[in-house]
Amino acid sequence: MAYFDNNATSRPCEVALVAYSEALSEDWRNPSSPSTTAARVQVKLDLAREKLASFFGTHPAGISFTSGATESNNAVFSHLAGGSSPDARVLLSPVEHPSVRESASRYFPSRVDELSTDGSGIVDPAAIAPALEANEVVLVSVMAANNETGIIQMWEQIADVCRVHGVPFHCDATQWLGKLPSSQFNACDYLSASAHKFGGLKGVGLLKAPAKVSFIVGGEQEGGRRAGTENYPGAAAMLAALEEADSFGETPILEQARDAFEESLRASIPEIEVIGENASRLWNVSTLLLPRFDNLRWVGKLEKMGHEVSTGSACALAKDGPSHVSSAMGLSSEQARRVVRVSGSRETTPADWSALADAFRLADEELQADSPFSKVVSI
Ligand code: PMP
Repeated sequence: MAYFDNNATSRPCEVALVAYSEALSEDWRNPSSPSTTAARVQVKLDLAREKLASFFGTHPAGISFTSGATESNNAVFSHLAGGSSPDARVLLSPVEHPSVRESASRYFPSRVDELSTDGSGIVDPAAIAPALEANEVVLVSVMAANNETGIIQMWEQIADVCRVHGVPFHCDATQWLGKLPSSQFNACDYLSASAHKFGGLKGVGLLKAPAKVSFIVGGEQEGGRRAGTENYPGAAAMLAALEEADSFGETPILEQARDAFEESLRASIPEIEVIGENASRLWNVSTLLLPRFDNLRWVGKLEKMGHEVSTGSACALAKDGPSHVSSAMGLSSEQARRVVRVSGSRETTPADWSALADAFRLADEELQADSPFSKVVSI
């Protein structure tokens, strides 16, 4: 099966699996236990934290290991709600992941404001300053890259505006890390990520936050920030995966293969639209608005042909109606049902992309042949 659903999760990479299995067999003890062998695990955990802190230009106490970006995002809002006034508001882009949107609404009920965007869901950094001046804002949260479309936000410029105004900035970098370099995130006060999106394991993530943040109580682990026995093997695998992904740097050849796929698709299905085509996008994503048929039919047909694609966000799949991202980009419910997301990885070859384009053409022919209307016409 050719796997094109990397924005949902990626296959654990070899270095992560090796780091994980070594840590599981050698360093499985509880880092908080008093033995010297357990203390060695604590030292290794702290070393992993130091390395991650240097990736993100922060102090080791600013990095907490979490169960993933969902927990990290929740932690940001629960922490800020605890110390802020009843009038404090938070500002989000309308295309944030549900774990940002819903935790913001839970901890700041009726005090969440959405930033305006262009047709691609991109926030204009110039819109931030007036919004900060109009209200008592305690956090601005704008993701680095969108999970449904791969569209990149101008998060560095937004971070600059926030810094000038003395307002903390949170960036959900879950889709960016592992695909684009992890430098420059020192500009963010808060940062969330999940290891499984870049070759690590599920149930492991990180939160970069000012050192004083404490979000899970009941133990002194993680310097009192997050209680609970630490998952050193998971942290070791996350670090190994990130180090490897970062060592690749920018890889224009991967983007060229994705672009060639889109060109080939347009040649065979001319009415197709590529969402965010003219925006800055992650090199691995192509989100397509197909001219006909429900997206689940495309997904099913392509799977039978050996290609695993998605309808969009796995987190939004269970919901009825269009995702908030489709709505923010002005798609109708009917159009949103024709959206298919294709997300490759570094392992996806130009031949894989080209085979997928052929499969789309074939799927279109077969779906048209299957449709009751075409049968009536052909009788
Ligand atoms: N933020 C973004 C942008 C994501 O894409 C995801 C995963 N779809 C999450 C947060 C949540 O990640 P996890 O499910 O690993 O906690």
